[in-house]
Amino acid sequence: MRGNLYIVSAPSGSGKTTLLQNLLRTFRDLRFSVSYTTRQPRGGEQNGVDYFFVDRPTFLGMVERGEFLEYAEYYGQLYGTARSFVEQQLEAGKDIILDIDVQGARQVKTKFEDAIAVFSLPPSFVELERRLRSRMLESDEAIRRRLDIAKGEILFYRDYDYIIVNDVLENSILLLESIVRCGSAVASHQKHRIEEIIASFGGTV
Ligand code: 5GP
Repeated sequence: MRGNLYIVSAPSGSGKTTLLQNLLRTFRDLRFSVSYTTRQPRGGEQNGVDYFFVDRPTFLGMVERGEFLEYAEYYGQLYGTARSFVEQQLEAGKDIILDIDVQGARQVKTKFEDAIAVFSLPPSFVELERRLRSRMLESDEAIRRRLDIAKGEILFYRDYDYIIVNDVLENSILLLESIVRCGSAVASHQKHRIEEIIASFGGTV
């Protein structure tokens, strides 16, 4: 049985990283797809764990060789999902989760109709601004730029199957966990299992 493919997108600063960390702690079998990026590591980020940090020529070489399932430019930097990793995991029956932006989510959805896409929305513009400022990681200018990008991103909510309004973190964590639990019950994801069961009754699909 093929694994399920989950996509999570959210405007920067809305709390997505915390949500994902919690999810991965709960679902030990869920594999996280480590993206490639041309941006520099931030804070304690580790190569091969948070991202594979590569230079632009290396990234563009991978684009040319068709090694990305999807890729996009975000805030002047390139980000991409390794095709082979995702395909191998799904073939091996592993569930996999992608943390990608709205442009990437759209590309993946056209290739994998069954992908379960989740969009996490901050409760309001003011709250997103407050969260970005409280991280104290960036200049005013950078924060304004992120807010501007967020204004465009939230309009992509229509591409997604589920929307989580990330107001109270504990509730959002439970909601995301529920979505992943339900993913394994989606009928189209269980085609082979259903066929086997029906065959055990002596029937055919
Ligand atoms: P950050 O630089 O803050 O880690 O990520 C910036 C944005 O890039 C986030 O919205 C994140 O979800 C997105 N992103 C991370 N990896 C990928 C990827 O492989 N593909 C695409 N399209 N977006 C990505």
